[in-house]
Amino acid sequence: MPYRDTWATCEKCGKQFIFTVEEQRRLSELGFEITLPTLCPDCQKKAERAPGPHEGIIKWYDVERGYGFIIQRSGNEIFFHRTGIAPGETPDFPDGTRVTYLVEQTRRGPQAVDVARINET
Ligand SMILES: [Zn+2]
Repeated sequence: MPYRDTWATCEKCGKQFIFTVEEQRRLSELGFEITLPTLCPDCQKKAERAPGPHEGIIKWYDVERGYGFIIQRSGNEIFFHRTGIAPGETPDFPDGTRVTYLVEQTRRGPQAVDVARINET
């Protein structure tokens, strides 16, 4: 799909916003599919704090230390610990792996749990 600025309407607040070429490039570079967002950037950020499930991309995961970070669609990163990996998943996530996860609020802030690979078909 050629990149072009596209108008979109937020499903939540009804605000119109532009899904910009820069934003499309950014998502593509991170490894996200380029789909028209259903939420404006503000609502997207709020939605990412909700339990989910969400889709994200592994920034890095350190097997020895047992933790890593997931990049969210907004570009924000979220921490996850090896105990937050979904049962049955291989506890090894190469950079760029697409995953689903839930958000749990902890004393140290939001944390991703139930982290599972998205099986590419
Ligand atoms: Zn909105």
